[in-house]
Formats: sequence, structure tokens, C-alpha cells
Amino acid sequence: MRKIKKLALALVLGGMCTAMQAQDFNQYFENKTLRLDYIFGGNASQQYILLDELVRYPSWAGRQHHLSENALRGNGQIHLYDEATDQLIYTTSFSTLFQEWLSTEEASTTTKSFENVFLVPFPKQKTRIEVVLFDEKGNEKNKLVHVVQPHDILIHDKGGQEVTPHEYIHRAKDNAKAINVVLMAEGYTSEEMGQFMESARLSVGEIFKHKPFDQFGDNFNFIAVQSASLDSGVSVPRAGEWKKTAVESNFDTFYSERYLTTNRLKKVHDLLAGIPYEHIIILANTNVYGGGGIYNSYTLTTTGHKDFKPVVVHEFGHSFAGLADEYFYEQDVLSDFISNQTEPWEQNITTLKDFDSKWKKQLKKGTPVPTPIEQAKKYPLGVYEGLPGNGIYKGAMECRMRTNQYDKFCVVCQNAIERLIHFYID
Ligand SMILES: [Zn+2]
Repeated sequence: MRKIKKLALALVLGGMCTAMQAQDFNQYFENKTLRLDYIFGGNASQQYILLDELVRYPSWAGRQHHLSENALRGNGQIHLYDEATDQLIYTTSFSTLFQEWLSTEEASTTTKSFENVFLVPFPKQKTRIEVVLFDEKGNEKNKLVHVVQPHDILIHDKGGQEVTPHEYIHRAKDNAKAINVVLMAEGYTSEEMGQFMESARLSVGEIFKHKPFDQFGDNFNFIAVQSASLDSGVSVPRAGEWKKTAVESNFDTFYSERYLTTNRLKKVHDLLAGIPYEHIIILANTNVYGGGGIYNSYTLTTTGHKDFKPVVVHEFGHSFAGLADEYFYEQDVLSDFISNQTEPWEQNITTLKDFDSKWKKQLKKGTPVPTPIEQAKKYPLGVYEGLPGNGIYKGAMECRMRTNQYDKFCVVCQNAIERLIHFYID
């Protein structure tokens, strides 16, 4: 699970951002999607955000309320402003592989580019778009501002004609309020789609076994997308194996063996065009253990491994709910994105810099803060240090975000997921 940790990416200051006034979706937006394709590039000392392409989808599958709020801060945000009134009309938050790469040694000597794709509702009027990346303290580090004219002839229509074959494996009660999650096939040939469908069903079943997802079956659509690959399996560069697969994922990301990611975000989204989706789970056809989850970007995990089921839920905890890992390593106590000098935005860890914004109110009266590990039986919910002296605390000794062997999310994670689901559906 080591490689997965880094993908969790992190930042500062959790909690719900200040609620701005509610907007009427129809006043500013059409029931279509504006897909924003960017290249994030640079190196450790200098970064660039470049607009690659604007794409239009025939419908919008995201939220139609809380338009100008973010449930979580993330490591970056997109803001849409109505150009005529300067009103904030939509925002979303995310994390990226690019920001994580910036902390690798390679970034000190090499300049690289990463694809990033974001979905926003399609504006009716001229709209100013700001893309912001934060540093580890939550300060604005990089920014791109550009204006979108809804009638721009260069906005590329996708998803109208040829749509990848897909099948609902779980349906929400009310489609208008549904959280739309796709499960995509990676490294499955057309002949292997039966196996993919089986893994997709197992994944959804496993997610719904976990609190609080089990309470919200009526609020999720899960759609299996049969994105076929020419080759079976995924690329393993250290073995010289390069395969032709749907989203071109590979192990050895950042030269780390089990680190399976894709930088072909445009390819991912092109395969999904025309399907109503917001959250993405990519299931890779290999028995090698690995994967990752990037907040509001994607979960990518392997299906042939015995721990596939807990891992897919763990990674979905990262990509859907922005949860941090609850395991820590000596060598890597603090990732570059979790500083113990500021309060991280991830809801399931705290540095006690602003514990009021975390699970303080849920603690039983008299619970010592921090809580000594010897008292874990007495205080199932406490404030337990990740490693002696690392200054990062979690709420419970066991959690799906810590281990594959435990079968639940801890109470802190459950509450965080529940708040997020309400943000999307209420
Ligand atoms: Zn937890």
C-alpha cells in the first residue's frame, strides 16, 4: 500500500468552505458539460498551467446545488465567474499526480507535463475560469485565468455519436439527485468483458458493505463502462512489458514498482464522453497488487489480487471522499503535502492545529487529547498519533484507510463520507 499513500495527496485546512449564496443552476448553466483539459507542467522550481482544449458533452451529471461551495479544500480548485457580474457561479476541488510528482527527485532535474481534466456545468454566458493550485500550507501557488465564450466554435463536441458500451449495475432512486460513478475496464480485451463485469459488480457490492455507503444505495448510480483494450493486462515497464490498453496505465510510476497510474486523462475522459459520470474507478486486469486514488480525479486498482475488494474501497475513500491514509511509515513520516505545521484538509487526520474543525465534538467527555495508545480499548474514538512524534493524529486504531484486514471505515471516516454524500445530494 506504500505507493497508494502518496496518491492521497494532501493539504491544509479542512472543513466546509464558507457557503456562498446559493445559485440557480438554470440561470447560469445549460444541462451540458464543459470539459476543461489542461496540461500542468514544470519542475520543482517553476510550474505552468496550460489550457489544452475545451470540450462539450451533451448533458451534465454533477450537482445542481451548492454550486459555489466546495465540500473539501483539495490541493487545487477551479472557480467559474460570470464575467458580466463577477459572481462566483461554480467551483470544484481536486488533487493531482502532478503536485505529488513535484516532490520527487526527478522534478528537481527534469521538466515534465501531466494531463488534467475537469468537468464543470456548461455556462450560458461569457465566463472567467480560474484554476488554482495550492502549496502544502494551502496558499495559492500557481494560477491560470482564462475566459470561455459559450459559442466558441473551437469547443469540441464529444459524446454525441459514439459512446463506449456501458451498463448500469446499480441505479439511484432519483436520477436527478444521483451521484454518478463509473467503473472503467483497463487491460481487458473484448473477450474478457465478462470478467470485468464480474469485478465491477464485486466492487460495488463491497462499497455498499461499508458504512455509511450502505445507507445511501438510493443515491448512487454505478455504471460499468466496457472500455476494451487490444492487449490483456497492463504495462510493467521494469519487465519491458508495454501493452496497448484502454487508458495506457503502467506500473513503476515515479520508478516506484507498485505504483500504477495513468497520465492519459484525456483518453480516460474521451472513453467516458456521453455517459453520465462524475467519479471514476478504473479496474485494471492484473494480479499484481497496486493502485491509487486521487481526490476528484480517479481510483485505479487491480482486480486479480486477493485483496482487491478492500483495496478498491480504500482507494475510493481517497478519490471520492478525499480521505488520507491512516498508516504511516518511519522513512516517510510527512509527505510533502502533509505538514504537521498546519491543519490538513483531509477530514480523517489532524495535526491539532485546528482540531475544532475535525472530530473534537464527537469525542466522549474526558477523552485525553492526544489519547495514549494503551487506552485505545477505553476510547474507541480518540486522537491517536500516527507514529510516535510525527504530530499527525487519527481517530481510531483501525480503519479501512489503514489496513485491508479491518472491514470498516472508522467513525471519523464514516462521518466525513456521510457529510460529503449530503453535500452532493441535498
Ligand atoms: Zn478512518
